[in-house]
Amino acid sequence: MSLPKSSFAMVQTAPRKLEPMDIPIPEIDDDAGLLRIDACGICGSDYEQFEGALRTPMPAVPGHEPLGTVAAIGDRAAARWGVDVGDRVAVETMISCHHCEPCLGGSYHLCNSRRIYSYIPLSDAPGLWGSYAQYMYLDPNAVVHKVDASLPPEIAVMFNPLGAGFRWAVEIPETGPGDTVVIMGPGQRGLSSVIACREAGAANIIVTGLEVDERKLALAREFGADATVDVQNEDPVRRIRELTNGRGADVVVDVSSYAVEPIVQAIDFVRMGGTIVLAGVKGFKPIPDFISDKVVLKEITLQGAIGVTSSGYKNAIRLLESRRHPVERMHTHDFSLAEAELAIRTLAREIEGDESIHSCLIPEN
Ligand SMILES: [Zn+2]
Ligand SMILES: [Zn+2]
Repeated sequence: MSLPKSSFAMVQTAPRKLEPMDIPIPEIDDDAGLLRIDACGICGSDYEQFEGALRTPMPAVPGHEPLGTVAAIGDRAAARWGVDVGDRVAVETMISCHHCEPCLGGSYHLCNSRRIYSYIPLSDAPGLWGSYAQYMYLDPNAVVHKVDASLPPEIAVMFNPLGAGFRWAVEIPETGPGDTVVIMGPGQRGLSSVIACREAGAANIIVTGLEVDERKLALAREFGADATVDVQNEDPVRRIRELTNGRGADVVVDVSSYAVEPIVQAIDFVRMGGTIVLAGVKGFKPIPDFISDKVVLKEITLQGAIGVTSSGYKNAIRLLESRRHPVERMHTHDFSLAEAELAIRTLAREIEGDESIHSCLIPEN
C-alpha cells in the first residue's frame, strides 16, 4: 500500500485555537508504525487542553483516544506487537519507557519518563503525536490492542472510556458480585463505570448527577443502574443511606470534573471500611468542609486513579466485541476533523441546545 506524503491534522497553536495543517508522513523504521485514524474519541480533558488549562505544549496535535488501521509497520514492531498492515488497533494513551522503577514494578502508567499522545510538541519528530489527524505515528514504545474491524469505528473507539470504567470502578476498588457502588458523575466515564460494575456482578449501582444531567441519568438506569440521585433536588446523603439500607456503599467512584463537593459527599456515602476512588480532576482546588477524621474513624481507603492500563482496555474491547451491551446508546455525535473545535465545545456544553455524551472525530481518509 502506498502512503500519502502528508497527513491532514488539526493543530493546537494557542489556547482556544486549532489550525488545519498538512504534516509530512515520516519513513517508518523497523521498530515503529503508522496508524490511519478511523476514529478519535473526544474526552473531557480535550476541553481543558483546548482552553490551555493543562500544561500542554503548543503547537501540538491533540487527540489521545486513537482507533485506527495499521497503514505501515516495521518488521520488528509487527513481530513484537503481533499486528500487521490492515489490522484495526486501539492505541493506549501513554508511551512509557518500560525500564524505570515504576515500569518494572508493574505500574507503567506511572513511568518516570512517560509521554502522552496529544501532549507531545509538533517540533518533536515526526510531529504526528495526536489523533486529530488522518495519520498518527506509532512510537516503538506504544501499546496497541487488536480490535474487531467489523465494529463501527464510533463504537470501537469507546474502548477508551470503557477501559476507564473497568479500571476505576472495578479493578482498583476490587468491585465484585453483590457489591453496592455509588458512581458520582453520569458522563461517558460514569456511564462506562455502570457497565463495568454490571459486568463485575455488582448488586446495587447508584449514580449521582445534577439537574441538567437528567438525560444521562436516564441512560444510566437503562445501562443497569438500580437508582439515580439528583443531588440538587434531593438530599444525597439521606438518599444513599435509604438506598443502601443505612449501611453505605462498599465502593464510591468520583468521575465528576471540577466540582469538589462530591468528595465531601463520598466520605458520607461510603460504608465503614469502604473504598473511595477519586478519578475526576478538580483544577487543583482545595476542598472546603473536608473532615479527615471521618476517613480515620470509618477507616476509609481513599485511592486516586489516573489513566488506564492494558487489563482495563482488554476488558473494554472484549465487551465491545461481544456486542452484548447497547453501548451505542451513549454515542451521540460524529464530527469531521475540521469540526474538532465544535466537537470539544459540544461536549463542554458551550453550544446552545446541544450536548454530547460520547462523541468522536471521523477523518475522511
Ligand atoms: Zn481521554
Ligand atoms: Zn518507565
